[in-house]
Amino acid sequence: MKKSVLRHERTRTITIGLAALCASAGAAAGAGSAHGQVKAGGAGAGGATAAPAPAISAVACRSGCVALDAVEPGATLRVKGTNLGAVEEVVFLGGPGEADDVAARATRVRGTSVDVVVPLGAADGPLAVQGGDAPASAPSRDQVRIGAAAEEEAVTGPSTARVVADTAASATLEARVTSRTVYYAGATPATLRVRVKAPAPTALSVALVRVSDGAIVRRWSTPPVAPGAEQAVLWNGRVGRQVPSRRERFQFQVWTAAAAPAAAGAPTASAAQAAPAPEVAETVELRPYAFPIDGPHRYGEGAARFGGGRGHEGQDVFAECGTPIVAARGGAVQFKGTHARAGNYLVIDGDGTGRDFAYMHLQAPALPDKGDRVETGEVIGYVGDTGAASGCHLHFEIWSAPGWYEGGRPIDPLPSLKSWDLPGSASRARGA
Ligand SMILES: [Zn+2]
Repeated sequence: MKKSVLRHERTRTITIGLAALCASAGAAAGAGSAHGQVKAGGAGAGGATAAPAPAISAVACRSGCVALDAVEPGATLRVKGTNLGAVEEVVFLGGPGEADDVAARATRVRGTSVDVVVPLGAADGPLAVQGGDAPASAPSRDQVRIGAAAEEEAVTGPSTARVVADTAASATLEARVTSRTVYYAGATPATLRVRVKAPAPTALSVALVRVSDGAIVRRWSTPPVAPGAEQAVLWNGRVGRQVPSRRERFQFQVWTAAAAPAAAGAPTASAAQAAPAPEVAETVELRPYAFPIDGPHRYGEGAARFGGGRGHEGQDVFAECGTPIVAARGGAVQFKGTHARAGNYLVIDGDGTGRDFAYMHLQAPALPDKGDRVETGEVIGYVGDTGAASGCHLHFEIWSAPGWYEGGRPIDPLPSLKSWDLPGSASRARGA
């Protein structure tokens, strides 16, 4: 185990209730009562030109998730909303009153999102943002909840487990996964939730096993979980530094800590072989790419094909205007703009691919900005017909390294699109 017991005891976990990503403009006024007002900033002094109040629509875990849509102090949250451009601080409001409020400086600020590193001592409750001349925002609808964290252990040596049939329940445990699909560099981690049915608090040992060869690629352990309580383990779809090239299945296996097999690196490699079967097991599929249209669609033919018409450098995929477009592969936004022919477009340098992925004719300017990091399956805009488009569609391009109009060449994206076009795509995963 990497971390000392002392560190573990001092480490608390922030759990974000994933309330719907609903706009909160209507909730902004008047929700502040229970928490008192955060500093009102300089509002009022200037009279007529007071800046508009920032409003929070959603809070999400950006990185460092350990358990249950959760992050430990040191991890990064992203606060989304409106009028956030002047925000300087994010306040972890905790319970009613100001005694347990903890403020942290925003690490990245733009009009519609603010990043913050979770400070030590943050307590259960919503967030607020403040800064500049604007009044503080109302508390977020999303709650930050402190809970026991699953502690990740390093997998240091070769270690294997027997892959078993999925077993959602045993006499002592009950397990479920929130989605059977996880994307590499994805926006939504695979989440295993385990409920303890045993009458006494029970510590858990969890392994993530690659189905093809039984290799244990991740391990977690939890402090004792109270009867009836749920413990969650999150996996972000990454296995070391490997970049997956195809779909692959992985299985979460859970033991009560007492029955767990020897940890990786233990002297006897054969110990794993003799390990007892897990109490419960759940399988998820890792996908390297998401299909970029989140809704019904059909592939264009003729001039809408790659190479069709005069130098058509992509594949057109038709869908109703307004259908969400998601990033097929996360990465850094390389270009964003509006062009007479391409309309609103976005180009993402796909993580670990050397390739660029271009999305065109978006209904409105793309949601992320140049330089932003986008995750696989993240909504980047909506199908439209801006620019020279006949009918609502996504014009999708894939460019070889070094990239889009940077010396690369366009590649026919149709075979890739068809291989990503599977049931259980981004859409369904996101609602889970
Ligand atoms: Zn096209």
